[in-house]
Amino acid sequence: MIDHRGDLRKGRPTLWASAFVAAACLAIVALSGWREWSSRQTLLKASETDMANLARSVTQHADDTFELADTVLNVLVGQLELEGTSPAAIARIQTFLSRRKAANRIRAVFIYDEAGRRLATSEPVDLAGLNDSDREYFQHHRAVAERGTFIGPPVRNRSGGQWIITASRRFNHPDGSFAGVSLTTIDVDYFLQFYRGFDVGQNGSIALATANGIILARSPDNGYTGRDLSSAPLLKIIHERPAADVYYFTSPLDGVRRLSFYQLSSRYPVLVVATESEDDVLAPWRRAALTRMAAVLGLTGGLAVAGLLLVRQLHLRQKMAAALIAKEADFRLLAEQSGDMVMRIAVDGRILYASPSSARVLGWAPNELVDTSALAGINPADLARVGETISALMNGEAEEARITYRTRHREKGEVWIETALRIARDAQSGDINGVVAISRDMTERKDLEDRLAALASSDGLTALANRRHFDERLESEWDRARREGRPLSLLLIDADHFKSFNDLYGHQAGDACLRSIAGVLAELARRPADLAARYGGEEFALLLPNTDMGGCEQVGERIRQAIQDLGILHALNAPSKQVTLSIGGATHMSFDDKADCTSLIAAADKALYAAKESGRNRLVMSGQVIAWPGSIRA
Ligand code: GH3
Ligand code: MG
Ligand code: MG
Repeated sequence: MIDHRGDLRKGRPTLWASAFVAAACLAIVALSGWREWSSRQTLLKASETDMANLARSVTQHADDTFELADTVLNVLVGQLELEGTSPAAIARIQTFLSRRKAANRIRAVFIYDEAGRRLATSEPVDLAGLNDSDREYFQHHRAVAERGTFIGPPVRNRSGGQWIITASRRFNHPDGSFAGVSLTTIDVDYFLQFYRGFDVGQNGSIALATANGIILARSPDNGYTGRDLSSAPLLKIIHERPAADVYYFTSPLDGVRRLSFYQLSSRYPVLVVATESEDDVLAPWRRAALTRMAAVLGLTGGLAVAGLLLVRQLHLRQKMAAALIAKEADFRLLAEQSGDMVMRIAVDGRILYASPSSARVLGWAPNELVDTSALAGINPADLARVGETISALMNGEAEEARITYRTRHREKGEVWIETALRIARDAQSGDINGVVAISRDMTERKDLEDRLAALASSDGLTALANRRHFDERLESEWDRARREGRPLSLLLIDADHFKSFNDLYGHQAGDACLRSIAGVLAELARRPADLAARYGGEEFALLLPNTDMGGCEQVGERIRQAIQDLGILHALNAPSKQVTLSIGGATHMSFDDKADCTSLIAAADKALYAAKESGRNRLVMSGQVIAWPGSIRA
């Protein structure tokens, strides 16, 4: 019954919904991740800018410092080459140097001859016997004819032991040969003091190095002064790179990953590297980002769970809907193949569905019935009963019911319908949501039943009620009259000299005459409760419930008159020579005695006897019947 391809198609929305939930969650996470990543990049970029500015200002500072040393060296070299190193000339320079106050930037000035002996110095020291020919700067100048300022590796001061940086120049004899070295020294501490003024975080650093990687000054110091970093990756490739750039590296000194900005001085062979630990830069972001991402993940997780629950719900609903459709299809198949009319009735009494058999059972096509009231057309006499039965089902008072009632067929008029009703429940909630009614036309059966019942209770010749039926009715009317305190009247009617009628005109004519009398009785028994019966032979009875003696007398007289008016010839019935009736009437009005219905018959019978005795063709009422069985009024 179930269309499986249809099922698959219906499965797709759940798939789509799941995909949508997943995509939405992924998108939220990805977007948040991307946002965090870009804020991390922004932070690093800002830090790079800080480091670049710092490196530039530190480079400027180094350049300015070396320029000052350069100026001093220039003046001294000019003087020495002009005046030579005669004792007089040296004495003049010494005088000049001694007068110079030790400045904060240039710590000391020295002049060496070609053998490395100190000729003059700004320091207050004894020059005799001091030879610095072992120093690198001296050996450099002696070996290289180049006359520019040489910035040497940091050395420890021979007098104080502190780190100093040397800036030196060679001076020549007039013939251009090596005459000696002029030297200025700068305290490493001077740079460090300047560098300490900058905040580069706990793991940041500012370093000044020679272009070939010997550290001149580094803050924080940590004993790095004088270290050779020429094998560090940056220094290996620095000549292929721009003069100033951002550089990320893991420090060979302490293993900390750093973001740095390096700058090669354009004027001196020195290099400045300002670094910040990536961790220091990113720590605040990392903490906030972790919190934010945790919140986003939590939220997304919640969304995903809620979404999946909804999807599950959707799936269940779909399954249920599919099952319902299948059930509905089965229901229709059964309903449509059935000869009976199947209807689904809503709680409000509207018809929701009617099977095609409705056209046969009620004369209306299903689409003409849908949305109309299920009670429409029902005979008013049955309407309340049917309505109550349906209401009782809707209220859950019973699961099923069976009713027989009359309703209108579009063409045939009134038909008898038998309906089996059963409550229908909502598939999900289990609440009653209507009634299923299976109906069939019972008219033929009902007619047959009615005919059988009538046959059983009627007289074959006259079609009036038979004696048995009369006896039953008399008893029930007697009880009712007693209960309700109403009068009950009875007429017993007998044809006069009927034996001779038969003898004279034949039995068939007798039968016909009896039918005529019955016709009169049937006509004059006007009230629905009145019952005309063939009491036996040519005797009839007319039971008149709720009729007093006056009324009874009236009806009896009318009957007598009506037969006389018929004028059926009966030559042997003198003096009228036509068919006449003798009628005995009795009315029972008081029920406080213990009498039963036989007393009413006896009274009427007595009155009839009196009518016969007193000459026939007359009505005699049983006397003042309160006392009956009593006197006969004749
Ligand atoms: P009375 O005036 O005293 O009543 O005289 P009666 O002849 O009518 O009375 P009786 O009781 O002696 O006769 C009744 C007759 O009714 C007998 C019978 O011939 C006739 N009769 C009874 N039943 C039928 C019937 O079913 N068909 C016909 N044709 N005659 C019947
Ligand atoms: Mg008789
Ligand atoms: Mg008779």
